[in-house]
Parts: sequence; structure tokens; C-alpha cells
Amino acid sequence: MEEIVSQLITPEVKTAFMVVLILIGVLYLVSIIWVIRDSYLRGSNPIIWGIISLIPFIGAFAYSMLRPPMLLSDRDEQELDFMLKQRELLKYGECGKCGYPVEREYLMCPRCGTQLKNECQRCGHALNPDWTVCPFCTTRVGQR
Ligand SMILES: [Zn+2]
Ligand SMILES: [Zn+2]
Repeated sequence: MEEIVSQLITPEVKTAFMVVLILIGVLYLVSIIWVIRDSYLRGSNPIIWGIISLIPFIGAFAYSMLRPPMLLSDRDEQELDFMLKQRELLKYGECGKCGYPVEREYLMCPRCGTQLKNECQRCGHALNPDWTVCPFCTTRVGQR
């Protein structure tokens, strides 16, 4: 029996076996690194996930099932997008009376005709009612 086994395990078979073992070992290490890196990028706890990923393959598999769905950088981008939209909205206002969206330069609400801003006597720019000076031409605005 031993003879058959030693005949089967030729140096070639041994080498092939070693290569497979090394490949599995590398795959295992890469899976740990991937879990730590990915959990860090997703804003999860990389230490806890790193420990879980030490369980060969099951750990990394569990992580890939349970990881947070969004990358942290994606999340930042979404927040930035949201803030930009908010700022875009700030460029416009809405009529205090009817809520119609009005642009900053509107003197009057196009829908209900409410006076929104005062007009600069000199340059004609729209002025907020609480401004004391026109920021466009530096003319003092007469307080009413
Ligand atoms: Zn209005
Ligand atoms: Zn002016």
C-alpha cells in the first residue's frame, strides 16, 4: 500500500500540490486585505471585519454578504450633490404671499403681483427691502 502511495506521489504531484496550497494561501491573504480595505472605504469597522475575515473564506464571504451597500466616497458625493442643489435653490426664493418660485432679480411676483424687492433709483437693480445701500452702484437707499 505504502509503495503505491509513494509511487503516486511523484515530485511533479508534490510540486503541483504545493502550488495549489500556495494559491489558496495567497487567496486567503488577499481576501483578508480586501475585507479590511473595503470595510474601511465603506465606513465600517475594519478591525472587527478584519478579525472576522480571519476565518478562512467564510469570513470574507460573510463580509461580502453583510457589508454596507455604499462606498464612503459615493456617500460623500451624494451629500455634495444634495448641498449643490440646496445652494441652487437659494439662488431663487419664493413669493412670501403665494409661494411661487421667484428669481433674485424679480421686483414683483409674476403670479400675484406682490412687491418683492425695491428697485435701485440709479442702476435699476433689485434690492432687498432691508438693504441700506445698493451693492451694485453703492447708491444709498432711502429708508422708507
Ligand atoms: Zn406671489
Ligand atoms: Zn444701484
